[in-house]
Amino acid sequence: MLVVMQSHATEEQIRAVCDRIESLGLKAHPIPGSSRTAIGITGNRGAIDLSDLESFPGVVECIPVSKPYKLVSRDAKEEDTILHIRTPGGEVQIGGQCVALIAGPCAIENEAQTMAIAERIARAGFHLFRGGAYKPRTSPYSFQGLGEPGLKLLAKVRERFGLGIITEAIDHESLDLVEKYADVIQIGARNMQNFSLLKRAGRAKKPVLLKRGMSATLDEFLMAAEYVMSEGNYNVMLCERGVRTFSDFSRNTLHLAVVPAVKKRSHLPILVDPSHGTGKRHKVLPLSRAAVAVGADGLLVEVHHQPEKALSDGMQSILPSEFAELLSEIQQIAAVLHRHVN
Ligand code: PEP
Ligand code: MN
Repeated sequence: MLVVMQSHATEEQIRAVCDRIESLGLKAHPIPGSSRTAIGITGNRGAIDLSDLESFPGVVECIPVSKPYKLVSRDAKEEDTILHIRTPGGEVQIGGQCVALIAGPCAIENEAQTMAIAERIARAGFHLFRGGAYKPRTSPYSFQGLGEPGLKLLAKVRERFGLGIITEAIDHESLDLVEKYADVIQIGARNMQNFSLLKRAGRAKKPVLLKRGMSATLDEFLMAAEYVMSEGNYNVMLCERGVRTFSDFSRNTLHLAVVPAVKKRSHLPILVDPSHGTGKRHKVLPLSRAAVAVGADGLLVEVHHQPEKALSDGMQSILPSEFAELLSEIQQIAAVLHRHVN
């Protein structure tokens, strides 16, 4: 159920509706939009009768929501959500007219590697740095990440270069630490349906970047975001990173058609990760162009200054010398769509 308020509804009127919803043991989620506020209701196990809400002052109507997701839905909010990521170098917007470029190594390996890459990223004019301190690896014998010392290196990157930090949490313990050190918490593909982790991310005070599971349907993807939002964290961005198919020439199949499909159903920003989506360096630039052309709100690109020595995902990491071409091309493509890159 969604309660649609009048455009001029007052704070008190919105509060009164929320109080009524919460008096029934349900959770009210006021979602402000540019023209009106809608109030989502979660916590009900079946149909609920809240017809009396229609007579509350300031209420336009109560709409039953037939889709399984509510808060992520365009029904709850017509216009695109724009996330405002606070970084020492200023605020970075993701969504709306803004296309965000996020770059960094797959894993934080050591101080020299981290600083060398961060320096090149900052010099290229990017504002968001992503690197993993906790790596969910297929093999227990592969490099698992530096853990908290890796987060400390990320904090150093923020301090030294003014970059915003995005890094992955793989469980509750690492999420507590990631929330402390990072500007954005990444939930990886393998954890897209780790529901207790999603709920914990929903209670976090930082924005969440949620990657699509490698075999997740669109509904499952959106329901994962719903888990985060249902706990009260509305700062969620989605990320397509490729799905498993019979392709024998790429690591995954980058499913770009999901971008307009998400945009039709949801107001949340959706980014594209062409690195994991293809697994090959030479495919990153062409798929980055395509992702921006199809309407992605940002790119998440892996980069390494010495990819042949990388402890993870070197094959799909571009070189810092490829930044200039990437940036110039996606700026031009974004401009055709009346958007700008930041
Ligand atoms: C990553 O971003 O480095 C990563 C492990 O990605 P994914 O969760 O998409 O596999
Ligand atoms: Mn990686």
